[in-house]
Amino acid sequence: MNSWFDSDIKFLKGVGEQRATLLTSELGIRTLGDLLYYFPFRYIDRTRIHTVGELTSLQSSTYVQLKVRVLNFQKIGQGAKARLSALASDGTGRVELLWFKGIKWMEKRLEVGREYIVFGKPSFFRGEVNMVHPELDNVGASVAPAIGMQGVYGTTEKLSSSQLGSKGIYKLISTLWRSAEEHITESLPRSIIDANGLMPLREALRNIHFPQSPAHLARAEYRLKFDELFGIQLDIVSRGAQRMARADGFAMPRVGEFFNRFYREKLPFELTGAQKRVIKEIRGDMIGGRQMNRLLQGDVGSGKTMVALTAMLIAADNGYQSCMMAPTEILARQHHATLCRMTEGLGIEIGVLTGASKAAERRNTLEGLAEGRIRILVGTHALLEDRVQFENLGLVVIDEQHRFGVEQRSRMWTKNTRPPHILVMSATPIPRTLAMTLYGDLEVSVIDELPPGRKPIKTVHMSESHRLALFGFMHREIAKGRQVYVVYPLIRESETMDYRNLYEGYEAVTGEFPPPKYCTAVVHGKMSNDEKEASMALFKNGTAQILVATSVIEVGVDVPNASVMVIESAERFGLSQLHQLRGRVGRGGEQSYCVLMSGDKLSADARKRLGAMVETCDGFELAELDMKLRGSGDISGTQQSGMAFELKIADISRDSQIIEHTRRIATEILARDPDLSTPENRLLAALAKRYAPQRGGDFSMIS
Ligand code: ADP
Ligand code: MG
Repeated sequence: MNSWFDSDIKFLKGVGEQRATLLTSELGIRTLGDLLYYFPFRYIDRTRIHTVGELTSLQSSTYVQLKVRVLNFQKIGQGAKARLSALASDGTGRVELLWFKGIKWMEKRLEVGREYIVFGKPSFFRGEVNMVHPELDNVGASVAPAIGMQGVYGTTEKLSSSQLGSKGIYKLISTLWRSAEEHITESLPRSIIDANGLMPLREALRNIHFPQSPAHLARAEYRLKFDELFGIQLDIVSRGAQRMARADGFAMPRVGEFFNRFYREKLPFELTGAQKRVIKEIRGDMIGGRQMNRLLQGDVGSGKTMVALTAMLIAADNGYQSCMMAPTEILARQHHATLCRMTEGLGIEIGVLTGASKAAERRNTLEGLAEGRIRILVGTHALLEDRVQFENLGLVVIDEQHRFGVEQRSRMWTKNTRPPHILVMSATPIPRTLAMTLYGDLEVSVIDELPPGRKPIKTVHMSESHRLALFGFMHREIAKGRQVYVVYPLIRESETMDYRNLYEGYEAVTGEFPPPKYCTAVVHGKMSNDEKEASMALFKNGTAQILVATSVIEVGVDVPNASVMVIESAERFGLSQLHQLRGRVGRGGEQSYCVLMSGDKLSADARKRLGAMVETCDGFELAELDMKLRGSGDISGTQQSGMAFELKIADISRDSQIIEHTRRIATEILARDPDLSTPENRLLAALAKRYAPQRGGDFSMIS
């Protein structure tokens, strides 16, 4: 399109400096184009009013409209903890409306005894219904469009409290649309639009925000999904072809002292057959002169770290450095400790670098790297920074890839004269269509076997009324010397409520397991890194019997003595996340347990998810079911799935046909015009560029 869409969002009427900053930090919206491409994640019938009585936890991730009378309201607490709580009813039940921000403003608006149309997401806590930062309309003043279908836009607590709830965003987009239309130019050549019966781009963008009819909406969605997936396929297919043609990787033919001594003297157990096979595949890649780009899939606990270590030792034997990138501080430190322990006495120096590294430690590490003294470096995103310079980087291992984008992977390529070998490790089994989209340019190895002697984890589903039984069970396990995790969901949209649940849960646990006899540690995202580490240390060294945490512990924490994983509000987690969490126990030889706590009212999908968890421990089976269950565009669903990928509209689980179709077209076109340099493919070159990894929310790519 053109520069109009690159204009700063702050210049849109109704935005301004302060809201622009919020839109950017909360939703990544910087320009008018970003806003135009911020699509509703669902549509609701604004003529439909729900009753409180019919709400179930079914709706906890869904927006609903209620018509309720305010019974009373009051401000509770002071300062940062202050909140406004209003009790309202529609005769079928009561709902608590909560505001943590904009309290003064709401206090002035609310009137006891008056009826309001309330729009928001209900959540359920101990059988009570509440709504955090709902939008309020006076009865009769609803903004329902003529047709009744109105887009619901994803938002956050911070935005809602600046009058940018779903409705506020809808209003901004209405304002934007009035001047946007004339600037929208077609992104696809006529021939492709005709051959595929696509709706023109301008019409599609209008209908995605303001549907004329369900049929128009369906065609608009198809058109926009097509653009997105076609752009990605053009980019991936062409990159794959370029890579095959270049074939310029580091050859690492030697297996030497480091690897052999480790294998003979250090390896604490026999490798599984699957580990051996995968190591061979990796070695095969590293021997030749072609750059390795390999995805290593293996269920939680299948022993991926060991495979990574052997690859890094081979690199060291050939005179190259390696680095291993982990998604969290906790995990990076843990990997560092594990690798140091396993290679003790081999004379190989392993450094660690994270955002929290102290200045002196950092300087020392950077020096050691540059002069080649440090052979292996473990760390977080901090490794991507430009000042991290290697003497001779030959291998990059990325753990738990689903937290990193393609973007980060390609940034590591520039850390040496040729791109280093890349090994991406993931515990999330990835179905084929997803692999085609996310990892279309990767080869895949699978560890399909767990180390021997693991007892399958026993999983049970309990409701709130069984909490006493749960406490009894925890007492018995702790008496046997075991340790227990208690995990709470944390979702951006309901962050404040979630923290409240976490604190209340923590208090309930310490009430039941009081100090000094017991010690309960707590870890969550609002703590500083030092605090987090101190808490984790208490749990790791066995001082604390219980660890209460948000899902920050989801990935990779290894405490073999922990035998019980309690997941609170389990119905709010996605299947893959539940499976990841469960994988934190069952790492030692003891029988381990996973307890899924949930409310009594469950949606059909939640029931299926929890049922599947009780039924099977097989990650691949669960992943497939997950794909089937996960709803299109359900924002919290995609966040929870752990496979967050910046698709704006397409849904990898549902749109496999479009993926395959666009891949075929992309392959055909690129076979004839590999650089997309002919005039008729000019638009396609722009589309591919838009979806290339260096993107990052930058709308200039569309021009
Ligand atoms: P993940 O694949 O989830 O990253 P890890 O690499 O953390 O798994 O391994 C899980 C645990 O299994 C670790 O304690 C590790 O030492 C152990 N382990 C790995 N491979 C084997 C093996 N072949 N035999 C026995 N234990 C193993
Ligand atoms: Mg791991």
